[in-house]
This record gives sequence, structure tokens and C-alpha cells, in this order.
Amino acid sequence: MSELPPLSSSDEYARIIKQSYRRLLRSLPKPMSEEDCRAIRNALDLAAEAHRGQTRKTGEPYILHPIAVAQICVEEIGLGPTAVVCALLHDVVEDTAVTLDVIRERFGERVAMIVDGLTKLDKSMLNPSFRQAENLARVMRAMLVDVRVVLIKMADRLHNMRTIKGMSHDAQIRIAAETEAIYTPLAHRLGLYNIKTEFQDTFLKIVRPDEYREIADKLAQTKRSREQYIRDFIRPIDEALQKNTKGLKYRILGRPKSIYSIWSKMRKKEVAFEDIYDLFAIRIILDVPFEEEGLSCWLVYAIVTSIYQNIPSRQKDWITTPKANGYESLHTSVIGPGGKYVEVQIRTERMNEIAERGYAAHWKYKGLKLLHRNENVFDRWFNKIREVLENSEAANANQIMADFEDMMPEEEVYVLTPKGEIRFLKEGATALDFAFDIHSDIGCSCRAIRVNGSIVPFSYVLKNGDQVSVETDKSCRPSADWLRFVKTSKAKNRIRAFLKKERFKTAAEGLEILERKMRRLFDCSAEEHADALAKWYGFEERLEFLVAIALDQVNLARLKEFRLEDGLLKPAEPSPKIDSTYALDERPIERSNKPSDVIINNEPGNYYAYTLATCCNPIPSDDIFAYITSKEGVKIHRVTCANAPYLFANYSYRILPAHWGNTAKSNFVATIAITGIDDGPGIIQRISDHISGKGINIRSFSISSEDGYFQGRVALIVANEHQLQQVIKDLKQLKFIASVWRVE
Ligand code: MN
Repeated sequence: MSELPPLSSSDEYARIIKQSYRRLLRSLPKPMSEEDCRAIRNALDLAAEAHRGQTRKTGEPYILHPIAVAQICVEEIGLGPTAVVCALLHDVVEDTAVTLDVIRERFGERVAMIVDGLTKLDKSMLNPSFRQAENLARVMRAMLVDVRVVLIKMADRLHNMRTIKGMSHDAQIRIAAETEAIYTPLAHRLGLYNIKTEFQDTFLKIVRPDEYREIADKLAQTKRSREQYIRDFIRPIDEALQKNTKGLKYRILGRPKSIYSIWSKMRKKEVAFEDIYDLFAIRIILDVPFEEEGLSCWLVYAIVTSIYQNIPSRQKDWITTPKANGYESLHTSVIGPGGKYVEVQIRTERMNEIAERGYAAHWKYKGLKLLHRNENVFDRWFNKIREVLENSEAANANQIMADFEDMMPEEEVYVLTPKGEIRFLKEGATALDFAFDIHSDIGCSCRAIRVNGSIVPFSYVLKNGDQVSVETDKSCRPSADWLRFVKTSKAKNRIRAFLKKERFKTAAEGLEILERKMRRLFDCSAEEHADALAKWYGFEERLEFLVAIALDQVNLARLKEFRLEDGLLKPAEPSPKIDSTYALDERPIERSNKPSDVIINNEPGNYYAYTLATCCNPIPSDDIFAYITSKEGVKIHRVTCANAPYLFANYSYRILPAHWGNTAKSNFVATIAITGIDDGPGIIQRISDHISGKGINIRSFSISSEDGYFQGRVALIVANEHQLQQVIKDLKQLKFIASVWRVE
């Protein structure tokens, strides 16, 4: 592609942009049409002009953010020129004076629509009164308008996560929690494996920094020996492949497991790092024509398992039946030297691209005849989402959330209907789940379920490839027992809803019985006295009381102990049993001894009736936050508390910043990047004099300059974030400095 003309202005700002922009252009697939080139260029110019003078929290010029997001769209998600234009413009409407009309006029309807989707998504995310379920529903709706809205948002979030260090601690936790709740499952479902892994690792690093560090350190310590092990493991495979396959093109990669996956394994199995037996994994990627994919993969599988003992229970064939997100691969684990388990993944370059880039790559190969196996996986999923959203007006937020959770499981199982149609359910789903998955009416009137021809219990756990058929009977009804037989939220919710409806029906019968009794005894209606009577009989709720009447579990003869005075029922005798809820209220509220050295929202803690949360027992020097509970005043939690991500994601509006009052934090090292004009010798001296003049120590300093322009990095030892921001601000005052920002 020909060199583009320089930016309209040749100022310092333009210089900073140029480098990142060149990198972006290099990453775009060639050749590009004249029209696309022009659109991208125009988008950059518009964004650069609009964001001029704005900086990010890290201190770097704002425009570098949209450029970086565009870069991620191209390199890591595999999107094309339109997405690049939209990514460059994604924050323009939200943060600058440029309107959507301007964008529509210059870039057309489609770009305007995507940018509008992104702007709306940003707004709703910033509104803390929206709960997670509503936010998720918004993201889903945006995705149905154009998938690129969500893919670009994903790139935006990824860049924000990569530069999250510039944010306040609270903001970091909130963003990490929201990412974990919404974007990580979406990335998984859209097949963006690498992005999902990065989201998870960053989440861990922010929310559980100590555990993250521990695993990262141990991985670093064992790196060399692990790499040696993998080399020794691969060698015989490599030799056998060369000997037994004629010119098969392949590459073998040793694959480190992500820190998050190790962490979650340690938690799930409650084992130490040293006891995780499957730290090792390799991937064999074949470069073969589409028609030879299946045969070649199985040939390689046969060669690998003739060298190392296979563990059949770990074998997974995602080639014959790809996962619901389009993932194709052949997996197994074998026993390597020294008895260690090694996971082996076998796939082709095409499958690998789909595995890593998901949706966009899938789109690229859409034309290929993938038997019946892989077609329309996303279309089918989008239709399901559409269905949930259409029903969502009737349902409550928790219901929507539950439906979405079913649609984005970590692992799934596939089964066949009697007609041979494939249905995906989440792993662990039962036969009864299947009935509800087909239709809630079929679930509710389910009489018997057959798997591969034989009747199975409702609680039968489905296995891949099972053929399932459901026999219904109109007289069959769900019972409370059924809740124990199902795993999916859809089935659980439908059963609960049914039971609730039944209960209301029964309660209505109870009310009728009570009504007749009251008319006869007092000539008054039951309606207005039902609450008082429920309490007198010792029921917590009116509904339970009425249901009990219908089931003949209440001694209504005792109504005779009442008399009606001035329209009020008065018992002649005290209540038949002690009402436990009343007894509780009389108990004096226990006050815990609280230390008074917590600062909440920059005010002394004793302004609030706070207590320390018992789920995490914070101690001075822990990072903490304050949470306003609905009934028990303010609670202080550790930032690493297991409940923290949930609270931040759902109730961020109830969270106040908090810290310990009189515990001084120790110093830490922060690195800043500086760019500016090299106007002669002694720049290092001038910068370091300026910094040390403020009483701050420099740990290291590096600088490089070219054509009168310099870039440098300075590692500082500072006491706190405030002091660091002060240094950055001070440096920016210097005339020869163009920009200063914090880096990791
Ligand atoms: Mn952004």
C-alpha cells in the first residue's frame, strides 16, 4: 500500500499518533480498496481532532486508545476495515463534541449504527443502577444488531484491562468483576479463546493478586525444567511423524496452561500447585487441505497413542461433533515420561484459527461444506438469544440471567432428538433437563424418558451422543422433587414457576374455606383478617397459612376463641404457640467491638455504624471497601473477599471506598514513560534533577532519541498513587516534555 499523506498538522501530537497508526496499517490485510483506505484515514483524522488534548488516566494521549482498540480488532479478532473505522470512532460520540449525524454523513449508515451501539453500551455500563442482568441483556441486544458491536467492545475492554493500572483500585475491581461476569463468558461463547484467557488472568491479578503472584512465580521457577520435559516428550512424536507420514506438514507447540486455569483447578480440587498433575500440554497443528482434515488428525492420534499410553476417559472428539461455539479439535491425555499426564491436542491450521479467533474466523470459512456439523452454530445461538430477549419482558431479571447462563456454559454435552437433531446442553444436564430444553410444556407433562431406547430415571446424566425421547402425559405434573433432578436454570425456573402457580391455586381454595367459616362465625370477610389470623396461628406468611387450610392442616375450630369488636378480631386466649419471628425482634442487637480506624468515603469510620464482615475478616493493611447492606448497616470487606466480585457487579452503587486510617503503606516502584523534544544535551540530567528535587528516588532510567525526539522510561520509588500523579503532573509542566504516562 502506498504511503499515506502526513496528518494535517505536523505538531508533536501528530508525531505521537504516527507510530501507532503505522503499526495499525501494517497489520491490516492487503490489498485494501482505495475506499477502505480513505475511510480509515478519515476516521483517524476525525478521532485525532476530536480527542486532541484529552488524556487517559495513565496520562497518555487519549487517541492512542482507539488506535490500540482498532489494532486488537485486526490482529486478535480478525475483523476487517469497517470494524477498524468503527473502533477508531468508538469513543468519539461519547466523549467529544462530534455527533452521530456527522459520523453517518461521512461514513455511512452501517458505521453510524455500530458506533451508536457502542456508545449506548458504554452509557449503560457506566450507570451503576443497572444490574448485571440488564447489562447483559443490553450487550446481547447490541450483538443481534451487529455482532461487530460486541466484538469491538471486547477489544475495547481488552485494551482497558491491559492499561487498568492507571485506574483507582475500586474502579479496577469493578471493571474486573464486570468483565468476569459478562465479557469472559461471551468471549468463550464467541470462541475468542486467547481473549477469554487474558480476561481471566487479568481478573485474577486484580482481585486476588497474592494468589496470582504465587502461581506466576512458581511457573517461572519451574519454567526451564518444564520446557526440557516437553522437548523430551515431543522428540519421539516428531521422529515418528516424519517417518510414518509422507511429507505431512505440521508444527508442534508446547502449551503453558493459563494462570487462571491452574488457579481454578487448585481451588476445585483443593490441591497445592505441586500436586497438579496436568500442567503439561502440547498442540499438534497440521497444515492439510480441508478434505484430508479428519483422516490426518486421526492418523496423528494413532501415532501419538502408539508411543505413549492413552487415557481413554480423557479423549474428546470435537472434530466429528464440534462444540457449540464452533470449536473443533481432537483431545486426549497420555502418560508421558515419569508418569506425568500430558494433554495432547490435534487440529488443523483452520481449526486452530477458529479456536483462537472464534466468530470472525468462523465467518471466513463459512463457505466450506462442513458436512452438517458446523453450519450456522452462531445463527442458531443468536436465534436462541432472540427468543430469550423476546420473552424477557414477561420475565424478571434473575430469570433472564439464568437463561443466559444456560446459553453460555463452560462445557457442554450434545445429545440427539429422535429425529437426529443435535441439541447442546450444559455439562451435567439430566434427562429431565432435556425435556424442558425442548419445551417447558413437554417438561411439565413429562411421564418417562428414554435414552437410546431404554427408560432412564429423570436424574440420568446425559452423555455425548445419547439419543433422547420424551413421553408425555397431560395428567403428569411437576413436583418439588423434580428440582433435585435438574441442572439447567431453565428447567429449575419452569418447575418453580409451576409449583408457585399451583400453590396460588391451592391458597385460593384455602381462602374460600376460610371465607365460608368467617361468614358463618362473624359475618365478615376473610380477606381483611387473613394476615392477623396467619400470625396468630404461627405462620410466617399468609400464603402458607391459606395453603395449610386447603390441605386441612389448620384447626379452624379454634376460630371460636375469637370475638369481633369494632371490626377487629380479638383473641380470647393468647396465641396457641410462640411466634418465633416476634421472639427474635425482642433480642438485643449484638454490637461487636469495632476498631475505629477505618476511613469510609474519606470520612472517619465512626460516622457510619460499620462492622467488619465475617466472611473475610479484614485486618489493618488489607485492601478494603465499604458495602452498605440493606439491613445491617455498613460492612467492611476485604477486596479479595469471595463475595466482592458479586457485590461490585450487582450493587456497585452501594459501595463506598474505604481504607485503614493509621497504617502507612510501604513504598512501591512505578514506571513512567516520557516523550518529548530532544533540544540538546543534558535531558536526562534535567529530568532526574526535576524528579529528585521533589524528594523522590529514581530506580532506573533509560532514554533513546532520534531526529530531535526522545522517548524514555523512568522507574520511581513512590509512597502512593497520589505522589506518582503529582510527579506526572509536574513533569508535564516542563516545556520540552510532550507526554508522560504510567506504564506497567
Ligand atoms: Mn474505549
